[in-house]
Order: sequence, then structure tokens, then C-alpha cells
Amino acid sequence: MANLSLEAEVIVVGTGPGGATVARELTRAGRRVLLLERGRPERHHPLYGTHLGALRYAERGGLFFTPEGIQVVVPSMVGGATGMFAGCAAPPPPWLREKYGIDLRSEVAETMEELGIAPLPPEQRGAASTRLAEAARALGYAVYPQPKFIRPERSARFHCGAHCLLGCRCGAKWSAAEFVEEAVRAGARLLTRARVERVLMEDGHTAGVAGRLAGRPFIARAERVVLAAGGLGTPRILQASGLRGAGERMAMDLTLIVYGLTREAGNAQDPPMTWSWDDPELGVMFSTLVDPWLLYPVMAGMRSLRHVLTWPRWKHLLGVMIKLKDNLSGRLLPDGSLSKPLLPEDRDRLREAERAARRILIEAGADPDSIFSSPLRGTHPSATVRIGELVDTNLQTEIPGLYVCDASVFPEALGRPTVLTIIALGKRLARQVLRT
Ligand SMILES: Cc1cc2nc3c(=O)[nH]c(=O)nc-3n(C[C@H](O)[C@H](O)[C@H](O)COP(=O)(O)OP(=O)(O)OC[C@H]3O[C@@H](n4cnc5c(N)ncnc54)[C@H](O)[C@@H]3O)c2cc1C
Repeated sequence: MANLSLEAEVIVVGTGPGGATVARELTRAGRRVLLLERGRPERHHPLYGTHLGALRYAERGGLFFTPEGIQVVVPSMVGGATGMFAGCAAPPPPWLREKYGIDLRSEVAETMEELGIAPLPPEQRGAASTRLAEAARALGYAVYPQPKFIRPERSARFHCGAHCLLGCRCGAKWSAAEFVEEAVRAGARLLTRARVERVLMEDGHTAGVAGRLAGRPFIARAERVVLAAGGLGTPRILQASGLRGAGERMAMDLTLIVYGLTREAGNAQDPPMTWSWDDPELGVMFSTLVDPWLLYPVMAGMRSLRHVLTWPRWKHLLGVMIKLKDNLSGRLLPDGSLSKPLLPEDRDRLREAERAARRILIEAGADPDSIFSSPLRGTHPSATVRIGELVDTNLQTEIPGLYVCDASVFPEALGRPTVLTIIALGKRLARQVLRT
């Protein structure tokens, strides 16, 4: 059977916040863009935002573990991981500008205004989450209401609680799929179930990509290719294309939740992460969060049977999330598996953060005997194609015409929500491509 052959001015691989933003900006400026996405459009599927849905669109049904036991959550659908994100927004860390010369201030301001990024109104931050925030404040932390990509006024049914993390069913939360839809309306071509395997090169220049479309081989030709397949997807493609160094060492923003039981209602039915506070010395962000109902016993069961037995009291759980700015370690192997050993320094900081979360939970009324930590999770696989090593500050690889625009370009762990930074990088790259 002959290969299916496609052609465009710019090919964008992946439709997470990186790919969706670049595609939208370039299409609006009149470029002929082909968007290739491995996943499917899920937002209007009846199972979207349910536990069964999450099994469909999270890589390996959400049960993707490193040999070290870290659960890596990799959503695959139109919109990428924003189809399952907590909707938190944080500006890029100051070190990105000071140390690496990437100034995203105007792109961030533009995005915040366009998407109406702001904390939820006080009455929608959740009573138990607010109690946890007050406890943290009483212990000396500078607590702040978490800015969100969620606008309750976009929905008449804003009450999803922890289930919000399975996918937004009420429509209040922004997803990169919205930028994809805009790009398509402006003339971009979107192909789903299109898995890109490698980049084509001719005379040392980018010539397109090759892969499989619903299982059938295809080739797509373009002089410019933007890889935005995420912190794991992009290095896989680069490895298969012969680019050395991709996927060597990585960051995850390692995450866990410290739980405690209380007599009153807990924060499981509050929107996720409505209040946050940071410990910059420890390199840790804290926030208010409880796992969705069916995921909780799985996580608790990985700790002990005693903790699974708390499942019927899910509504009485108080949860404090810890996000650690981890050191670069481990590697992505060409067979798709990955290893992420925890360095001793990371382990020590994590233990210190768990002790702090425990103090906060007790201050908020949790029973000290009930407190335990969930297993570790990596929701921000990143820093696998780092700026300054495999891409330059304009996000171009050593191959002319081949760019990367996603979480893989972070030079180090962000240690905070990533999406606002990635959208800003996408806007900046689109301007750069339009100038050349
Ligand atoms: C549960 C969860 C909660 C989170 N909460 C937040 C939050 O509140 N705030 C925040 O800022 N961040 C959050 N994040 C992180 C954030 O969503 C990701 O870091 C971000 O979406 C990464 O964007 P990206 O463009 O790098 O790639 P992704 O969003 O990962 O998108 C990559 C896309 O490329 C596709 N793809 C992969 N390989 C191929 C291939 N070979 N061919 C074609 N397509 C391919 C994938 O299917 C995917 O759709 C969360 C993540 C998770 C999992």
C-alpha cells in the first residue's frame, strides 16, 4: 500500500498548550499549518471527565510507573494534558529570564488578559480548602489564592470538585483544545490518531515527518516542523530521528498529597488547588488537593490496606499537595520506558515538606494518627530537550527548520504550574517563525 502523502508550510506535532498555541498563531497570520495529534478529540465524548474516560486517554490507562514506583500521568488527546489539568496558572519563574535570557513578560500579560486568568471568587474556593489555607497562614506561610484557567461564569454547573481532574465536564476550565478549534476554524488542518515517529531531513534541513495515521504509514512534507509532543513524546521522536542527547535526564516536578481525616467535610468536593503557598528555600509549592474518588483507594492501597479502609470517608479527607522542584535525573529509553531515580537531596527536601504539610493538617483539625502520604507522581515530565543544550533560545534544534515548543525545552524543573509558560513560549516562537 502506498504511503499517504501530505504537505504544508508548517507541521505542528502535538496539540497540548505548546502545539495548540503555535498552530493558532501561525494560522491566524495566514500560514498553511498541518496539526498532527496522536490522541483523539475527547472533549465532547460522553465519557470525557469520568473515571472510564481517564482510562481511555491517559497513557497506559494512567498506570504508567517508572521502575522506581513513580506514577507518570501522560494524557493523550486533542488539547494534550490540559484535558486533565488542575487549571492552575503561574508566571514563568524569574530565573528563566535572568539565567537563560527568555523574557516572556509580554506574552504572559497577553495570555492572562485573553483567558481571564484569575483566582476563583472567594465563595468558590471551598470551605475546607480555605481552612487549610488559614492553617498554613497561621504557621507563617504567605498563602495566596491560586490563579486559575477556570472561569465559573462560563458554566451553569460549576460543582465538579476533585472530579475536575478527570477532565472538565462543566466547561468552566480552559483547555488547549479551544486553541486547536480556533486554529481549525482559521484554516489549519488537524489530523487525529496521527502518531509521528520521526523527522525527515534532506541535505541537512528539515523536510517533514513520517508516522502512522490510524495505523497506516504516512509522510507529511514541510520545511518547518514544530515538535510539541510533550516532555516525553518529543524526545521519543528526536531519539528515533537520530538526535543525540534527547531524553537524557529529566524533571517531573515530583508531586504527592499528604492526607489526614477530619470530622468535618474535607476538600475532596472543593475545586482542586484553590489556595497555594511556596517555600522557595526548599523548592516546594504547596496547594489544596484531594485525588478523585476512584483514584484515591488505588493510591492509598499502594501505601497500606489500613489506608484503603479510609475510602468510605473520602469526603472527610483533607489533602495538602506538595510539588517539588526536582533535580534532573534518570533517562527516557528508546523503547519508551523511563527511569527517574530520586536523588538523596530531593528525598531530604521532600521529607521536610511532608513534615510541614503534616503540621498544617493538624493545625486545620486533622487527626494526627490518620496522616499519610500518597505515592509519588510525576505530572510535569519536562526538561528532556533543554534550552541551551539541544535547542537554542529561539527553540530551534541544530537542524535548520526543526523547532521544539513544549515542556521538554525547560532548562530545569519549573517547580510550578507549567501551562502559562508553555503558551507564552508558543506565542514567542510563532512570532519568531513569522519573521523568518
Ligand atoms: C493531572 C495533571 C494535572 C496538571 N495540572 C496542571 C495545572 O493545574 N497547571 C499547569 O500549568 N499544569 C498542569 N499540569 C501540567 C501540564 O498540563 C503539562 O505540563 C502541559 O500540558 C504540557 O504541555 P505540552 O505542550 O508540553 O504537552 P502535552 O500537554 O503533554 O501535549 C502533548 C500532545 O502531543 C501528543 N503526542 C505525543 N506524542 C505524539 C506523537 N508521536 N505524534 C503525535 N502527537 C503526539 C499527545 O497526545 C499530547 O496531546 C498537569 C498535568 C497533569 C497530568
